[in-house]
Amino acid sequence: MTELTFLGTGGGRFTTISQLRQTGGLYVRDRGLRCNIDPGPGALVHMHRYGLDPTKTDSILVSHSHPDHCTDAVVLLEGITRGGLDRKGTLVAAKSVLRGEKLPDGRTLGPVVGSFHQKMVADLHEVGPGDKVRLNGMYDVEATKQDHSDPATVGFRMRLTHGQLSYIIDTQYFDGLADWHQGSRVVVCQMTRGGSARVPWHMCTDDVERLAEQIQPRLLLLTHFGYKTLKEGDPGTWAQRITDRTGVPTVAARDGLRVTAGSSFEMELLGGPPAAAHDKS
Ligand SMILES: [Zn+2]
Repeated sequence: MTELTFLGTGGGRFTTISQLRQTGGLYVRDRGLRCNIDPGPGALVHMHRYGLDPTKTDSILVSHSHPDHCTDAVVLLEGITRGGLDRKGTLVAAKSVLRGEKLPDGRTLGPVVGSFHQKMVADLHEVGPGDKVRLNGMYDVEATKQDHSDPATVGFRMRLTHGQLSYIIDTQYFDGLADWHQGSRVVVCQMTRGGSARVPWHMCTDDVERLAEQIQPRLLLLTHFGYKTLKEGDPGTWAQRITDRTGVPTVAARDGLRVTAGSSFEMELLGGPPAAAHDKS
């Protein structure tokens, strides 16, 4: 059984600041694995809401150092290690998260997890595209190539009990992106904008459609919706367009969506009313 819980489905500065959607990232549970991926603002709070115990997390994956992907990483590291009392858990993160990354304009992005917290965990891995890490002796994770304004950004491909999971994080589309995710049964893809309204360093529906055609996953889950996309309507419309045009079953994730992947997929919504009911408009 592989279980994905969306602690947030919002992305970008203005969705984050307004909390038009939550921004807590993705929680992955499998036999012998409890993993937070990109715990942005609210990850800790929404874990408690959904009955997920932060002291039970064993791994944290952080793709890059933009705030909507990483602000709660430090407090979750304190969760894993019981405030630093137990030296355990695994942190897998991009260079910008651990050591900072110099940008072309001379400014430096990160680090966002300082050495004090890096030393709390038992296993620390700085990853770039192609680097592989084994979690808990069972689950292979490969960092994948992205093309984003934080040049250190990685995506992830994980081998889980019920097939391969890809998480395609903030990136602009490039030839070869799909190659990193071939064979994935489930793809979670960050689609900041709907339709053809591409913004720099991010993907829109047109881009995700091309990926869907090339990867052909059994299930494609869209997340990380930007403010304008959410204000303009239901991202489910774009998911339907991808389904119709590519034949790949596509779902626009909602805050609190839990997807259980066994021989088939089951979906439930945690934490009360559907996201649409508490979206501020
Ligand atoms: Zn970003």
